[in-house]
Amino acid sequence: MQVIRNNILQCLDKYSHDDEKLIKHLDKITKEFGSQTFPIIFHVLAHLDLSQEEAEQFWLEICLHRLEMSNQLGHSVNLRTAICDYFCSIHKSLQNPKVVEIHIFEDTINTAKYDRLTGLYNRAYFDESLIREVARAKRYDTELSILFLDIDNFKTVNDTHGHLAGDAVLKDISHAIMDAIRSEDIASRYGGEEIVIILPETKKATGLILAERLRELIQNLGLQFDGKAIPLTISGGLANFPIDASGATELVKYADTALFKAKALGKNNIQAFSSNKRRYVRIDFSPQILVKKISIDDVTETIPANARNLSITGILFRSNDPCFAIGNKIQLQIPFDDFSATALLLGTVVRIELVDTNQYDIGVSFLEMDHPVRNEISRYLLKKLGQELAS
Ligand code: GH3
Ligand code: MG
Ligand code: MG
Repeated sequence: MQVIRNNILQCLDKYSHDDEKLIKHLDKITKEFGSQTFPIIFHVLAHLDLSQEEAEQFWLEICLHRLEMSNQLGHSVNLRTAICDYFCSIHKSLQNPKVVEIHIFEDTINTAKYDRLTGLYNRAYFDESLIREVARAKRYDTELSILFLDIDNFKTVNDTHGHLAGDAVLKDISHAIMDAIRSEDIASRYGGEEIVIILPETKKATGLILAERLRELIQNLGLQFDGKAIPLTISGGLANFPIDASGATELVKYADTALFKAKALGKNNIQAFSSNKRRYVRIDFSPQILVKKISIDDVTETIPANARNLSITGILFRSNDPCFAIGNKIQLQIPFDDFSATALLLGTVVRIELVDTNQYDIGVSFLEMDHPVRNEISRYLLKKLGQELAS
């Protein structure tokens, strides 16, 4: 989107005195990027939000309208004049337009969009973007994750090194995050030293991998001010649409809840939101499974463990390995009688109980699963429940 917008802005700048060339080049951009370009043209030129179909039709009608106006007036009519006349007199979507040089307008928009200290988007832009991105995810039936980050013990930095040092490292952290994310991710300063990132089309597991990478990045950033090292860490909370929440407000609330949990678990860690899933039916389930901790360097080994019970949202297994901790992300290979293949699932450790000497019960909440796997597990649970009820 931003690429198309920048192309249009460059074109408007380059051909500001030659409408014929301008229209020809705008047509070229629409050919290169397709019909998604039309709404962006109208957003740049008239700040109107139009659907793709509407915008494409208006574009053709306005090009015609410009030719008709030029014929009647006996001189070439400027594209913007034709747009203004079309939207004021014919389509009436503009009621009280203002004429302004585009670079002045773009500068004003940018000032209103960005946070001055960090260069991240500001809170207002985040609020607007989240509503837009959730609506888009609903429309196209895709997922979306949001990640809340908060610098650990930041007050101590101000108290120890002063506010200028605090400002400088906050800026460095923000820049490091901006450099590490994709161009379609939207990183904003939510409040003081809280950063929130919208991750469009991102599943929960992928969001967690990115979050973990950011956490490591900040931990190893080697922050300094005035030649003095200021080591800092961040904590994070992740929530997903539609798995955890069905709307923007809920998403923010749940990502914040997960962040709160990350702080409570000792900071410098990332937590995914998980609701209380006790309402789901559990069945006794005792095959041997294989579990493996997921880590960035991928050197942990796969170990066998004994499953104890299963629900659609999680599994309990017993292990004599003391290496698990709450919050660990793990991969599970679970054999089901009826499955031709072993199901490969991802989960977060949510409970650890010492049941005997060197024996731990580990509760894992599944992170997400593909619909076919979820359906298979549902069928399996139904069958086993039926058998239990019948016996
Ligand atoms: P925690 O690990 O629980 O997050 O501890 P914390 O000290 O970071 O506590 P908290 O998040 O509640 O406080 C944030 C502090 O960050 C408060 C304020 O002094 C500081 N802060 C917020 N915005 C700015 C800023 O723009 N510049 C500077 N220098 N400090 C800021
Ligand atoms: Mg903090
Ligand atoms: Mg804070």
